[in-house]
Amino acid sequence: MWIGSNSKDFKVLNRLLVRDMIRRRGPIARYEIARETGLTASTVTVIAAELLEAGVIHEVGHAESSGGRRPILLELNARAAHALAIRVQRGELVVAVFDLARRILAERSYDLDTTAPEDVVSTIGVSFEELLQETKIARDSVLWCGVAHPGLISSSTGVLERSSNLGWVGVPVGDMITESIGNIPVVVENISNAAALAEKEYGLGRGHRHLVFINLSVGIGAGILANGEIYGGMQGYAGEVGHMTLLVDQGPICVCGQQGCFEAICSSRTVLERARSVIPEDILRQNGLVKEKLTMAHLASAPLASEPEVQSLVNEIGRHIGVVVANLISMLNPEIVILGGELALLGSRLLAVVEAEVEKRTLEEVRRQVRVRISKMHDQAPLMGAYALALERIFALEDWRDPAYATPREGNQ
Ligand SMILES: [Zn+2]
Repeated sequence: MWIGSNSKDFKVLNRLLVRDMIRRRGPIARYEIARETGLTASTVTVIAAELLEAGVIHEVGHAESSGGRRPILLELNARAAHALAIRVQRGELVVAVFDLARRILAERSYDLDTTAPEDVVSTIGVSFEELLQETKIARDSVLWCGVAHPGLISSSTGVLERSSNLGWVGVPVGDMITESIGNIPVVVENISNAAALAEKEYGLGRGHRHLVFINLSVGIGAGILANGEIYGGMQGYAGEVGHMTLLVDQGPICVCGQQGCFEAICSSRTVLERARSVIPEDILRQNGLVKEKLTMAHLASAPLASEPEVQSLVNEIGRHIGVVVANLISMLNPEIVILGGELALLGSRLLAVVEAEVEKRTLEEVRRQVRVRISKMHDQAPLMGAYALALERIFALEDWRDPAYATPREGNQ
């Protein structure tokens, strides 16, 4: 941990340190901040006064007294700044405004044609304006935007090199979105990497440094955390497990053009297509379902879940996922593997099949301490990851000072 310095040269760093301490440990008294940071009481008092003046923190009552006066507690003003978080997926877009305490203030979801990047970006622009109006927050208080996006993304430039699923090649997604939302800075990350970060910050991955998240949706990818950091490989493209070959020279053709890819066999689209073809029409009719409108939620719950055709489909899909999970465990020796995305709706039934494959296909010593889990974040992990990326950058900014930060206290609780 960074230890504070009382030299004037470190004024900015000290302010960041105090703000971060209040964010992580608040409500907290000034004397505790001094004790934890190594700063003098008077330095903490001066910085706290500046942060109060700027509306970045506020006072929230008193701590229990240990004899003398009861110390006043300080807390971060969750509305002192805001983050925009975006999730892009084939046929889907989610745009949400968050406060600093992980609360969604307003959100828009769209089913849209994602063929043209321009259409998606212009929808983001319109959506942002609507969200500003709905929440009545100042535009200037939105300091960063995080985007969870499918495909091969250079996270340093925000350029999408290729997404087979969206059919996009060489799109400067980061710059385009920045322009559409009034030049707010944007960080773009691969959707599975973003989801892995969300699991580490807010989900089952908390406390783990070696984690694999597998996003099992219309596209399939993995986010790998090695030693607490995203493992991106040379160009940031690591984790493209969807295009690992599971069937050599056989099986369905993938969106990438190859045959037998994991994604071609197990994407939510394939699973639903398979379900439509194997579940007898009369079973669907009896349950008031229409083939074309079948969803993963239908397959996951009664009465369809107990149909033999659905069970054998889940078994087959689970075995393929299990093979991939076993291979990843052998290769990476993670502490935890988290299965998320649409297929995670299949829950414990899917997990049991995956675990049986892992048991069969890994060395006991490697497997012993690894846990395989179904994400509890449902489909929220990519959006929460986009938020976490924006938040990290907001807290790296030296100063949030702006008239808009003097937001009133109401609505902060
Ligand atoms: Zn492929």
